[in-house]
Amino acid sequence: MKILVTGGAGFVGSHLCERLLHEGHDVICLDNFFTGSRDNIIHLMDNHRFEVIRHDIVEPILLEVDRIYNLACPASPVHYQYNPVKTVKTSVMGCINMLGLAKRVKARILQASTSEVYGDPQVHPQTEAYWGNVNPIGIRSCYDEGKRVAETLMMDYHRQNGVDIRIIRIFNTYGPRMAENDGRVVSNFVLQALRNQDITVYGDGSQTRSFCYVDDLVEGMIRMMECDGFIGPVNLGNPVENTILEFAEKIIRITGATSRIIHNPLPLDDPKQRRPDISLAMQRLGWTPSVDLETGLRTTVGYFAERLEKG
Ligand code: NAD
Ligand code: UDP
Repeated sequence: MKILVTGGAGFVGSHLCERLLHEGHDVICLDNFFTGSRDNIIHLMDNHRFEVIRHDIVEPILLEVDRIYNLACPASPVHYQYNPVKTVKTSVMGCINMLGLAKRVKARILQASTSEVYGDPQVHPQTEAYWGNVNPIGIRSCYDEGKRVAETLMMDYHRQNGVDIRIIRIFNTYGPRMAENDGRVVSNFVLQALRNQDITVYGDGSQTRSFCYVDDLVEGMIRMMECDGFIGPVNLGNPVENTILEFAEKIIRITGATSRIIHNPLPLDDPKQRRPDISLAMQRLGWTPSVDLETGLRTTVGYFAERLEKG
């Protein structure tokens, strides 16, 4: 198949492109390189079935494809809050453009949504049936509400125009090629530990997150895209939940760092707890994560250590 991956030069997108090429598909990676980088895909450039287009999905584009994975959108709070209006445009206008493309060429389209649609959840763990608790006017809203509208657009193009859609709600994912400067907890803690610097836990560290290794996520994404008769939304994440303090301690242990844990202020609207209920993904896709946190973190630590050595 000919497959378009928007945001293909980003963290998740680059792993997805790699996997799809490995399966023998033609892959078009479309990216504006806001948070993505050429380094993430340089190893794929020699493959004659791989094509890169520098383009912003806020603008329409004409292509002939069979599948569209719509991942283009900055994902970390530091990046999506850098230009919040642009973040909304990317999620909303970008999604409309990709849906228009899917409609015209009759491609199947998968939207990368997020656990952030649940906001600061009052239901725990989060099932797909939960409508969420999102602040519409806060500093995370450009991302959270943008993704909620993207889900709405997907459903309306499906109901109104019969577009073949899939929606996945991705929970915190980590692994090699996360951006060094993205301020997310995994990259921050691993880099701080590798430099023996203080580990910056925001708040008292009692807030929880559940971390999924990127290879597991990519497997779930492809299963969802190729699953017939199920459009989602479906949660994709690892249900093993950690407090952020436990997570900091784990990273110190794995790296053998001499870092101390310090506490910085908790960002506004920081969700207190997050854990996916993945029953639906297990039932409908036969999917469950297979990489445990310790193993995934060791690989990720190895990746960042190598990057630090290269300078
Ligand atoms: P990332 O920032 O590494 O990748 C996003 C990519 O999209 C980058 O390559 C960036 O340059 C590109 N991009 C951004 N705006 C664009 C635009 N207007 N036009 C074209 N390209 C654009 O983030 P990621 O972690 O790889 O996330 C990928 C997708 O998965 C995002 O849609 C994100 O919302 C979603 N997601 C990720 C996580 C996670 O934990 N990583 C969790 C939930 C949802
Ligand atoms: N966090 C932290 N220290 C950091 C970066 C993040 O304690 O240096 C916390 C953050 O406040 C949040 C959790 O870790 O509670 C996950 O943050 P991240 O930005 O990775 O993802 P998100 O909040 O979007 O789930």
